[in-house]
Amino acid sequence: MQALGYYNGEFGNLDEMRIPMTDRAVYYGDGVYEATPTRNHIIYAIDEHVARMFSSASLLRIEPPFTPEELKSELNRMLQKMDSGENVLYWQLSRGTARRAHPFPEKTKPNLMMMITPYRFPNPDEVVSAITLEDTRFLHCNIKTLNLIPSIMAMQKAKEMGCYEAILHRNGRVTECSKSNVHILKDGVLVTAPTDNLILPGIARRHLIEACGANGIKVEERPYDVGELMRSDEIFITSSTSILRRCVRVDGQDAGGRDTASFEALKNYLWNRLTEYTHG
Ligand code: PLP
Repeated sequence: MQALGYYNGEFGNLDEMRIPMTDRAVYYGDGVYEATPTRNHIIYAIDEHVARMFSSASLLRIEPPFTPEELKSELNRMLQKMDSGENVLYWQLSRGTARRAHPFPEKTKPNLMMMITPYRFPNPDEVVSAITLEDTRFLHCNIKTLNLIPSIMAMQKAKEMGCYEAILHRNGRVTECSKSNVHILKDGVLVTAPTDNLILPGIARRHLIEACGANGIKVEERPYDVGELMRSDEIFITSSTSILRRCVRVDGQDAGGRDTASFEALKNYLWNRLTEYTHG
């Protein structure tokens, strides 16, 4: 199967599957999601992604109708149907199915939807560029909700400018990117925004912090601004599907790209971690 879809226990060709118009994901984006790569038919960092989905759901008062173990076994069951082991696995849980009305519907159960599509990791040595943009998202960015309009607008702008990502900031304070976290390295210290309500607590971010620990690089979790970003030695962009990208141009100016030894050490740690997890 090239691309597989799943909805509440039913599997099918992704491009042919249909879901009810009254799923609250359709008209409110009332739900949460996760995405992670797979390699050799192994779901990368599955425990962390499942735990974050449960945490996002709990913050929206959505009660999953399954345990984390049951969800993991359903995700794996779906993955094993794919011919290729190299994919992106996406899943979302919506509040349920009901006629449109803002309050939570009383008699409904959350809907689980999954999609698997083929995926190739980017070349980790290929550098990227970014633009900076005002962060116009709401104040619940720690919850991985389906409401992504400001992120989509930001990513489109980055794409139109020939860039890989949009680095978002609130009045100068860097938060994260449209679909990744961003970090800077200065004088051998990694600085990353704290995990408050302004950013998603990224799983690749957590792995980067672990990589710093293993390489003797000090980590400061604190706010930093666009000026500090432009003066930094390295700018790193992380997400589960991209692992670690090295950003060397921001808003058309050279930036970062000045501590190759640290970049190489962190990159090697993170890619070895992925290789070990997914058995090569
Ligand atoms: N920040 C945002 C807004 C995201 O959408 C994502 C990934 O989807 C990330 C950060 C990176 O998260 P993770 O490392 O868990 O993939």
